[in-house]
This record gives sequence, C-alpha cells and structure tokens, in this order.
Amino acid sequence: MELFDSHCHLDPMRYGGDLPGVLERARAAGVRFMHVIGTRAIDSAAAADLAEREEGLTASAGIHPNDAADADDQEWEQVVRLVESGRVQAVGETGLDWYRDTAPPELQRMFFDRHIHLAQRVGLPLVIHTRESTDDVLGMLREALERGPLTAVLHSFTGTVEQAAEAVRLGCFIGFAGMATFRSGGAVREVAVGVPADRLLD
Ligand SMILES: [Zn+2]
Repeated sequence: MELFDSHCHLDPMRYGGDLPGVLERARAAGVRFMHVIGTRAIDSAAAADLAEREEGLTASAGIHPNDAADADDQEWEQVVRLVESGRVQAVGETGLDWYRDTAPPELQRMFFDRHIHLAQRVGLPLVIHTRESTDDVLGMLREALERGPLTAVLHSFTGTVEQAAEAVRLGCFIGFAGMATFRSGGAVREVAVGVPADRLLD
C-alpha cells in the first residue's frame, strides 16, 4: 500500500543527523509522499529546502497558533515571502487552539486571519490546527469563503459528527491523527467513519 503522510514535522532542528534515517524508515514502511509542515519561519524554510532535495516531499509554510506570541511581523513577512516564492505547496500550519494557552486568543485570530488571506491570495491550500476551537475555525472559514475560494485541511480533527459534516460542506479535507488509534479514541473513530473517503486524510 502506498501511503501519503499529509502532516509531518521533519525539520533538521527536530531530527538532526537522524533525518535521513527517519525518511528511510518511513519509505520502508510504504510512505511514498510526505507533506512537511512548518510552524515558524525557520522550520518552514527548512521544510522547503528538504522538499526540494528529497523525492516525494512537499512543504508548507506558516506560524503555528501555539507559537503566535513568539512571532512578530518580521517573521510573518518571511513566511509571506516564502509562500510567494513558489517553493511551498500549502500555507500553515495555522489555526486556533483554545486548549493550550501559550498565545492570547486575539493574537491567534490575527495570525489565522493573515494565513487565510494569504492562502486565498496565492491559491494554495490551508493547513489548520484546531483544538477546542472548531466552531470558531469554521466561522472564520465561512467568512473567508464568502470572499472567494479556499481549500482547507483540518488536521488532527477532534470535533463532533455535526462539526465534521459542516466542515465537509465547506469543502474541507479532514485529518485524524493518532487519537483515532487509541483505545479511548472511539468517539474520534465514530466521527471519522462519517467523513466521505475522498475528504479523509491522515
Ligand atoms: Zn502539526
């Protein structure tokens, strides 16, 4: 079976010298394509470099909502320039996280809004992190879709069946992460089986 990992973090800062080993083991396990996600300007640039060097890899550039308090306008400009350079295939990871309080909500909203506008302007898909914030994320997507087209991936989804149905209606792709495999992940699995197969990611 050929696998496409739609959400992985493979920057050298995390893996250092073992990065070739990580890629080798993933490929040996059948992972043919990997989408490498940035969470700051620096690992977004590293993701773009890696995707250019390695076959089957694509990259995404963005500032993670948990890091929104540490990022400034200058860093955001670096992300914008990277996205505009055509070296990445998606915008994000962005979104809203009301579970962890590492960044104030208004700051998370501001950065999420910037990512949404950027993705719409350049016509790239948006990679979204949402934690205890699904209704607010869907609300901002609904507003964006009134302005123009937008393709979004809701990664590591933990919302309800109804929220998943609304996300599908808005044209989103939905990813379920490791939680779906946990013994306690019955509720997540129940939501996952209701998502059409052509909108399901992992
Ligand atoms: Zn991520």
